[in-house]
Parts: sequence; C-alpha cells; structure tokens
Amino acid sequence: MQKIKYLKIACSYVICGTAIYFLSGCASFTNKDEAAAISIPENETPYVSGYKTPQNIGLLKQELKAYYYSGGYDKTINQVGDAALECLKSSKNMPGKLAIVLDIDEVALSSYQLAEEMDFSHDAVKYDQFIRSGREPAIQPTLKLVIQAQKQGVSVIFLTGRREEYRESTTANLKRTGYENWTKLIMRPNDVRPAFIADFKIKEREKIIKDGYRIILNIGDQYSDFQGGFYDKGFKYPNPFYYIP
Ligand SMILES: [Mg+2]
Repeated sequence: MQKIKYLKIACSYVICGTAIYFLSGCASFTNKDEAAAISIPENETPYVSGYKTPQNIGLLKQELKAYYYSGGYDKTINQVGDAALECLKSSKNMPGKLAIVLDIDEVALSSYQLAEEMDFSHDAVKYDQFIRSGREPAIQPTLKLVIQAQKQGVSVIFLTGRREEYRESTTANLKRTGYENWTKLIMRPNDVRPAFIADFKIKEREKIIKDGYRIILNIGDQYSDFQGGFYDKGFKYPNPFYYIP
C-alpha cells in the first residue's frame, strides 16, 4: 500500500513537472535539489546540496517589512541616535571649529516607503519621482542631534550621494521636516558617477577638514559613509533595505 502511495505521489510530480516544462517554454529541471525533491517520500529528510544557499529573497522581503512595521527599526535608530547625542554633548568644551557630518537618506530623511514601493530593488523612474516630490519624513533622532549641535554652536554639514539635480527638492524636504540653518549641503555633481560613493565622500570630508573644521561626529547608514576616515567618531544607523558601496 505504502509503495502505491509513493508511486502516486511520484506520478503526480512527474505530471506537474511535465506541465510546467511545456507551459514555461521548455524550462527544464536542472536544479539538483528540485530534481531530488521529486523522488522524496513523505517524512524523509530531503536531499540538500553541499552549497550554502543564500536566504530566500521573498522571505527576506517579508522580514524587512516586519522589522520596519514592528518598530524594531525605529528602536535601533533611537539607540544609535541617543549614543551620538551623548557623544555630542560630551564635546561641549572642545575648542576649535567643530562640525557634525550627516548623510541624508536613512539618516536625516527616511526613504523607506520608496524602498518598499520599489520592492527593495531599484527603479530609476520611481526614484526620480519620489526624490523630486520631497515627501520623506525626518528621522527624529537626527533632527534632535541637529538641534543640539546648533545649541552648542557646532556646524551641521549634510554630505549626500544624491545628485545636484535634486538640490531644490532635497532642501525643501529638509526644511519642511524641521531642519534649518545648516552650514552646508554637499551633493554629488551630476556628472560624477564613481563606482564607489565612498570615494566621493572621503574627498569631501577631507575638504571640510582643509576648510578648518574638526568633524567630531559622522553619522551614516552605509559602510561607505565611514570608509577612509577624516572624522573623530562614527555612528551607523541600520539599513538592511539597500546597499550602496
Ligand atoms: Mg544613506
């Protein structure tokens, strides 16, 4: 009886597999795991290949949404923001021309809704429309940090990989969400397209220092915001939604 049951299961897999083969324009079962799965009886451990399979992208996207909507993302940002705020306050009596350097996306402003709308990929048209709309909310711990810096007489410098063509909408977005009186907004020239944004940011931080500033805090969300130095302390917000080298 058991053999007949397995035979029925195997036959149904073969029929389904054949249907898929023809319906998908002759796509074939080349994956070893899938091929092995066809002959696996119930309650038996499936064959797994020796390769380390990356996490399933569909499940990862669900995880990203759960992380954001559960409040986990905000909590982590608040923790990092609080630590940066303490560090800023401890520099109250530091001499010199002090500055904090802040990235924009996922540091000063949140573009999470765009990331979700793009299904955690990149869509140039959606990106352009969204950034020009200037509808990103402020990241509150960063706004607190900016207000505290200005109380202490510390200059606020935004350094972003966003291109110059978005200066107007970015400025409007920052002002609408409560940021004001910043010292500089450094954006990437429209014709500069480096393979690594880190290279652009390193050069710009070096220029800030040559202008006589001491960058006491550097706040970013990508590792490329921190490579190459030219700052005292770095604080990294989480960003599992996209990656910028
Ligand atoms: Mg960023």
